[in-house]
Amino acid sequence: MLTVQGINVYYGAIHALKELSIRVSEGEIVTLIGANGAGKSTLLKTLSGLLKPRGGSIEFIGRSIVSQSVQAIVKEGLIHCPEGRRVFANMSVEENLELGAYLQSAGSLAEDFHKIYDTFPRLRERRKQQAGTLSGGEQQMLAIGRALMGRPKLLLLDEPSMGLAPLLVQDIFAIIREVNQAGTTVLLVEQNAHQALKIAHRAYVLETGRVVLEGDAQELADSDEIRTAYLGH
Ligand code: ATP
Repeated sequence: MLTVQGINVYYGAIHALKELSIRVSEGEIVTLIGANGAGKSTLLKTLSGLLKPRGGSIEFIGRSIVSQSVQAIVKEGLIHCPEGRRVFANMSVEENLELGAYLQSAGSLAEDFHKIYDTFPRLRERRKQQAGTLSGGEQQMLAIGRALMGRPKLLLLDEPSMGLAPLLVQDIFAIIREVNQAGTTVLLVEQNAHQALKIAHRAYVLETGRVVLEGDAQELADSDEIRTAYLGH
Protein backbone atom coordinates (compact mmCIF):
# COMPACT_ATOMS: atom_id res chain seq x y z
CA MET A 1 0.00 0.00 0.00
CA LEU A 2 2.83 2.39 0.93
CA THR A 3 6.36 2.12 -0.39
CA VAL A 4 8.99 4.63 0.67
CA GLN A 5 12.37 4.31 -0.97
CA GLY A 6 15.59 6.11 -0.19
CA ILE A 7 14.17 9.44 1.00
CA ASN A 8 16.29 12.22 2.49
CA VAL A 9 14.70 15.02 4.48
CA TYR A 10 16.46 18.14 5.72
CA TYR A 11 15.62 20.97 8.08
CA GLY A 12 18.10 23.51 6.76
CA ALA A 13 21.48 21.93 7.39
CA ILE A 14 20.06 19.17 9.62
CA HIS A 15 19.81 15.87 7.78
CA ALA A 16 16.76 14.41 9.58
CA LEU A 17 15.98 11.34 7.39
CA LYS A 18 18.79 9.51 5.64
CA GLU A 19 18.15 7.21 2.68
CA LEU A 20 15.13 5.92 4.55
CA SER A 21 12.99 3.11 3.15
CA ILE A 22 9.90 1.46 4.63
CA ARG A 23 6.82 -0.30 3.35
CA VAL A 24 3.35 -0.86 4.75
CA SER A 25 1.02 -3.50 3.32
CA GLU A 26 -2.74 -3.28 3.30
CA GLY A 27 -4.27 -4.47 6.56
CA GLU A 28 -1.15 -4.11 8.67
CA ILE A 29 -0.32 -2.19 11.80
CA VAL A 30 3.29 -1.12 11.39
CA THR A 31 5.04 0.71 14.19
CA LEU A 32 8.03 3.04 14.15
CA ILE A 33 10.01 3.07 17.33
CA GLY A 34 13.13 4.96 18.28
CA ALA A 35 14.57 7.46 20.73
CA ASN A 36 13.65 11.15 20.84
CA GLY A 37 14.86 12.90 17.73
CA ALA A 38 15.24 9.69 15.69
CA GLY A 39 13.04 11.16 12.94
CA LYS A 40 9.71 9.41 13.53
CA SER A 41 7.52 12.53 13.40
CA THR A 42 9.56 13.83 10.48
CA LEU A 43 8.73 10.69 8.54
CA LEU A 44 4.99 11.02 9.19
CA LYS A 45 5.08 14.70 8.21
CA THR A 46 6.85 13.76 4.98
CA LEU A 47 4.29 11.07 4.16
CA SER A 48 1.41 13.50 4.64
CA GLY A 49 3.07 16.09 2.40
CA LEU A 50 3.98 18.65 5.09
CA LEU A 51 7.68 18.16 4.34
CA LYS A 52 9.16 17.41 0.95
CA PRO A 53 11.98 14.88 0.61
CA ARG A 54 15.09 15.42 -1.49
CA GLY A 55 15.37 12.39 -3.70
CA GLY A 56 13.81 8.99 -3.23
CA SER A 57 10.22 8.02 -3.84
CA ILE A 58 6.93 7.66 -1.96
CA GLU A 59 4.21 5.56 -3.54
CA PHE A 60 0.75 5.19 -2.06
CA ILE A 61 -1.59 2.64 -3.64
CA GLY A 62 0.54 2.51 -6.76
CA ARG A 63 0.86 6.27 -7.30
CA SER A 64 3.64 8.69 -6.51
CA ILE A 65 2.52 11.22 -3.87
CA VAL A 66 5.83 13.07 -3.41
CA SER A 67 4.77 16.12 -5.36
CA GLN A 68 1.13 16.17 -4.26
CA SER A 69 -0.39 18.73 -1.89
CA VAL A 70 -1.43 17.86 1.67
CA GLN A 71 -5.09 18.10 0.63
CA ALA A 72 -4.63 15.80 -2.36
CA ILE A 73 -2.87 13.24 -0.18
CA VAL A 74 -5.73 13.35 2.35
CA LYS A 75 -8.17 12.79 -0.49
CA GLU A 76 -6.22 9.72 -1.55
CA GLY A 77 -6.93 8.34 1.93
CA LEU A 78 -3.65 8.92 3.73
CA ILE A 79 -4.59 10.75 6.93
CA HIS A 80 -2.29 12.03 9.65
CA CYS A 81 -3.33 12.32 13.28
CA PRO A 82 -0.52 14.54 14.58
CA GLU A 83 1.24 14.51 17.92
CA GLY A 84 -0.27 16.49 20.76
CA ARG A 85 -4.06 16.25 20.36
CA ARG A 86 -4.52 19.21 18.09
CA VAL A 87 -8.22 19.80 18.45
CA PHE A 88 -9.99 23.08 17.76
CA ALA A 89 -10.48 24.19 21.34
CA ASN A 90 -13.30 26.65 20.75
CA MET A 91 -15.38 24.30 18.67
CA SER A 92 -17.62 21.52 19.92
CA VAL A 93 -16.77 17.85 19.70
CA GLU A 94 -19.25 17.47 16.88
CA GLU A 95 -17.85 20.41 14.91
CA ASN A 96 -14.34 19.03 15.26
CA LEU A 97 -15.48 15.69 13.90
CA GLU A 98 -17.31 17.31 11.03
CA LEU A 99 -14.13 19.12 9.99
CA GLY A 100 -12.40 15.76 9.69
CA ALA A 101 -14.88 14.82 6.97
CA TYR A 102 -14.65 17.97 4.88
CA LEU A 103 -12.44 16.53 2.16
CA GLN A 104 -14.24 13.27 1.70
CA SER A 105 -17.46 13.05 -0.18
CA ALA A 106 -18.08 9.30 -0.15
CA GLY A 107 -20.92 8.00 1.99
CA SER A 108 -23.06 9.74 4.53
CA LEU A 109 -21.89 12.01 7.30
CA ALA A 110 -24.58 10.68 9.65
CA GLU A 111 -23.28 7.16 9.20
CA ASP A 112 -19.71 8.26 9.92
CA PHE A 113 -20.76 10.10 13.09
CA HIS A 114 -22.57 6.99 14.20
CA LYS A 115 -19.51 4.82 13.67
CA ILE A 116 -17.17 7.21 15.50
CA TYR A 117 -19.58 7.57 18.42
CA ASP A 118 -19.86 3.79 18.66
CA THR A 119 -16.07 3.56 18.84
CA PHE A 120 -15.84 6.45 21.32
CA PRO A 121 -19.05 6.51 23.41
CA ARG A 122 -17.48 9.23 25.56
CA LEU A 123 -17.49 11.56 22.58
CA ARG A 124 -21.17 10.91 21.96
CA GLU A 125 -21.99 11.94 25.55
CA ARG A 126 -19.96 15.09 25.08
CA ARG A 127 -20.75 15.99 21.53
CA LYS A 128 -21.92 19.53 22.36
CA GLN A 129 -19.03 20.23 24.73
CA GLN A 130 -16.23 22.62 23.74
CA ALA A 131 -13.25 20.53 22.73
CA GLY A 132 -10.85 22.67 24.79
CA THR A 133 -12.62 21.62 27.99
CA LEU A 134 -12.26 17.87 27.36
CA SER A 135 -9.74 15.91 29.40
CA GLY A 136 -6.42 15.02 27.79
CA GLY A 137 -7.56 11.49 27.01
CA GLU A 138 -10.86 12.68 25.57
CA GLN A 139 -9.00 15.16 23.35
CA GLN A 140 -6.81 12.35 22.11
CA MET A 141 -9.91 10.30 21.29
CA LEU A 142 -11.36 13.29 19.48
CA ALA A 143 -8.17 13.76 17.46
CA ILE A 144 -8.29 10.10 16.40
CA GLY A 145 -12.03 10.30 15.75
CA ARG A 146 -11.54 13.35 13.56
CA ALA A 147 -8.89 11.54 11.52
CA LEU A 148 -11.26 8.57 11.12
CA MET A 149 -14.00 10.88 9.82
CA GLY A 150 -11.82 11.30 6.73
CA ARG A 151 -12.20 7.56 6.04
CA PRO A 152 -8.48 6.81 5.96
CA LYS A 153 -7.12 3.89 4.01
CA LEU A 154 -3.86 4.47 5.84
CA LEU A 155 -3.98 6.18 9.23
CA LEU A 156 -0.77 7.78 10.52
CA LEU A 157 -0.82 8.06 14.29
CA ASP A 158 1.84 10.11 16.05
CA GLU A 159 2.25 9.23 19.74
CA PRO A 160 -1.41 8.55 20.52
CA SER A 161 -0.64 7.41 24.07
CA MET A 162 1.49 10.38 25.06
CA GLY A 163 0.65 11.82 28.45
CA LEU A 164 -2.25 9.48 29.11
CA ALA A 165 -2.92 7.57 32.34
CA PRO A 166 -2.11 3.84 32.08
CA LEU A 167 -5.74 2.73 31.87
CA LEU A 168 -6.42 5.13 29.03
CA VAL A 169 -3.29 3.97 27.26
CA GLN A 170 -4.80 0.49 27.26
CA ASP A 171 -8.05 1.89 25.85
CA ILE A 172 -6.29 3.78 23.07
CA PHE A 173 -4.30 0.71 22.00
CA ALA A 174 -7.45 -1.42 22.06
CA ILE A 175 -9.16 1.15 19.84
CA ILE A 176 -6.25 1.20 17.39
CA ARG A 177 -6.49 -2.55 17.10
CA GLU A 178 -10.27 -2.32 16.56
CA VAL A 179 -9.89 0.33 13.88
CA ASN A 180 -7.33 -1.88 12.14
CA GLN A 181 -9.56 -4.93 12.36
CA ALA A 182 -12.37 -2.92 10.79
CA GLY A 183 -10.16 -2.43 7.72
CA THR A 184 -7.89 0.58 8.24
CA THR A 185 -4.15 0.13 7.75
CA VAL A 186 -2.15 1.87 10.49
CA LEU A 187 1.34 3.36 10.73
CA LEU A 188 1.94 4.05 14.39
CA VAL A 189 4.70 6.14 15.98
CA GLU A 190 5.14 5.38 19.64
CA GLN A 191 7.48 6.03 22.56
CA ASN A 192 5.64 3.25 24.32
CA ALA A 193 7.48 0.54 22.38
CA HIS A 194 6.21 -2.22 24.63
CA GLN A 195 2.52 -1.59 23.86
CA ALA A 196 3.15 -0.70 20.24
CA LEU A 197 4.99 -3.96 19.54
CA LYS A 198 2.13 -5.87 21.17
CA ILE A 199 -0.47 -4.65 18.69
CA ALA A 200 1.73 -4.22 15.61
CA HIS A 201 2.39 -6.80 12.91
CA ARG A 202 5.76 -5.35 11.92
CA ALA A 203 8.10 -2.68 13.20
CA TYR A 204 10.95 -0.43 12.15
CA VAL A 205 13.52 0.92 14.58
CA LEU A 206 14.87 4.37 13.71
CA GLU A 207 18.10 5.86 14.95
CA THR A 208 19.27 9.34 13.90
CA GLY A 209 17.23 9.31 10.72
CA ARG A 210 18.00 5.78 9.59
CA VAL A 211 16.24 2.44 9.82
CA VAL A 212 18.57 0.28 11.90
CA LEU A 213 16.31 -2.73 12.45
CA GLU A 214 13.09 -4.04 10.99
CA GLY A 215 11.02 -7.14 11.33
CA ASP A 216 8.12 -9.00 12.81
CA ALA A 217 6.87 -7.07 15.88
CA GLN A 218 6.80 -10.09 18.15
CA GLU A 219 10.31 -11.12 17.16
CA LEU A 220 11.62 -7.63 17.78
CA ALA A 221 9.87 -7.50 21.16
CA ASP A 222 11.65 -10.72 22.11
CA SER A 223 15.09 -9.67 20.87
CA ASP A 224 17.71 -8.79 23.48
CA GLU A 225 18.80 -5.74 21.55
CA ILE A 226 15.33 -4.19 21.58
CA ARG A 227 14.61 -5.23 25.14
CA THR A 228 17.71 -3.51 26.43
CA ALA A 229 17.51 -0.39 24.30
CA TYR A 230 13.78 0.29 24.10
CA LEU A 231 11.85 -1.85 26.55
CA GLY A 232 14.00 -1.25 29.61
CA HIS A 233 14.43 -4.90 30.60
P1 ATP B 1 10.27 12.51 19.37
O1 ATP B 1 10.05 11.10 19.78
O2 ATP B 1 11.07 13.28 20.36
O3 ATP B 1 9.04 13.22 18.89
P2 ATP B 1 11.09 12.00 16.63
O4 ATP B 1 11.72 10.66 16.39
O5 ATP B 1 9.69 12.17 16.22
O6 ATP B 1 11.30 12.42 18.12
P3 ATP B 1 11.64 14.25 14.92
O7 ATP B 1 10.70 15.18 15.60
O8 ATP B 1 11.25 13.68 13.63
O9 ATP B 1 12.03 13.06 15.89
O10 ATP B 1 13.05 14.98 14.76
C1 ATP B 1 14.14 14.46 14.02
C2 ATP B 1 15.29 15.46 14.04
O11 ATP B 1 14.95 16.61 13.29
C3 ATP B 1 15.67 15.95 15.43
O12 ATP B 1 17.07 16.09 15.49
C4 ATP B 1 14.99 17.31 15.53
O13 ATP B 1 15.69 18.18 16.38
C5 ATP B 1 15.04 17.80 14.09
N1 ATP B 1 13.90 18.67 13.80
C6 ATP B 1 12.58 18.35 13.89
N2 ATP B 1 11.80 19.39 13.52
C7 ATP B 1 12.65 20.39 13.18
C8 ATP B 1 12.47 21.73 12.71
N3 ATP B 1 11.24 22.24 12.48
N4 ATP B 1 13.58 22.46 12.48
C9 ATP B 1 14.81 21.96 12.68
N5 ATP B 1 15.06 20.71 13.12
C10 ATP B 1 13.99 19.93 13.37
